[in-house]
Amino acid sequence: ATPTSIMVGTGRAAEMGVLFRRGEALQTLRDVEVVALDKTGTLTEGRPELTDLAPAPGFAASEVLALVAAVEARSEHPIAEAILRAARGQGLRLGNVESFEAVPGYGVVGRVDGRRVEVGADRYMTRLGHEVGAFAAEVARLGAEARTPLFVAIDGRLAGMLAVADPVKATTPEAIRALHDMGLRVAMITGDNRATAEAVARSLGIDEVIPEVLPDGKVRALAGLRDGGRRVAFVGDGINDAPALAEADVGLAIGTGTDVAIESADVVLMGGDLRGVVNAIGLSRATIRNIR
Ligand code: ADP
Ligand code: MG
Repeated sequence: ATPTSIMVGTGRAAEMGVLFRRGEALQTLRDVEVVALDKTGTLTEGRPELTDLAPAPGFAASEVLALVAAVEARSEHPIAEAILRAARGQGLRLGNVESFEAVPGYGVVGRVDGRRVEVGADRYMTRLGHEVGAFAAEVARLGAEARTPLFVAIDGRLAGMLAVADPVKATTPEAIRALHDMGLRVAMITGDNRATAEAVARSLGIDEVIPEVLPDGKVRALAGLRDGGRRVAFVGDGINDAPALAEADVGLAIGTGTDVAIESADVVLMGGDLRGVVNAIGLSRATIRNIR
């Protein structure tokens, strides 16, 4: 490709809200075979809502929610915001937080008014030594409805289950159809549990799912997709997407995402949704075809 054609192509892309931070990406995109998507905030809104709250015997729902919300007030995870909104909506008074720790990819733990409160995925409970095997059917049921199940332990005893749901962006189904029409394979990489990830993937016709990926594991998941020399584009928005955005053949950041993601990407999608990926690949194919 000539420098002039690249300039024209990236100029037209900019008019569509697709910013090429590196001009070479316009050429590389043409040869991409797989588009790998982060789930939360990329194909979903990234704004979950609390949908379920089931206290264990001996615990009151408002007591569990107030304790969990107090701990989550210290977390920056979108799940934390969902729980806080629900607690505020019920006018609950949050206790005094004496300590807090986030365990990335697992959950959070803190001390509230002298009580130890642990909240997170089933794998977090297992890691803490709390038995959650009895809830497998419940986890599967919530997952099948594309909800993310969470567990709460208070002072070392299982105190309840919560679930949050993060709606798929209205533009996502159409964008995935368009990627398929372009002959591309679509994959999803997520920290969410397998049942939830598979339900979301099934509803969208996503070809390949890599669930339960820890925050530092996205690059390894990407390497798996690149096996056999397949060229892979990765689309993400979060801090923990930054390494995969840098490592992918082409990294595309959602423009409404974090600064770290944007700075690690080759392409920035100002529209904030996946239609930008379709436009970027379409333009790449049109531009490079004209000059070969
Ligand atoms: P994702 O970006 O896909 O949500 P994360 O690695 O951030 O992936 O989180 C993976 C899982 O860890 C979440 O689905 C949730 O089960 C648990 N988790 C992480 N942070 C929190 C939190 N603040 N509160 C409760 N659970 C959490
Ligand atoms: Mg995300």
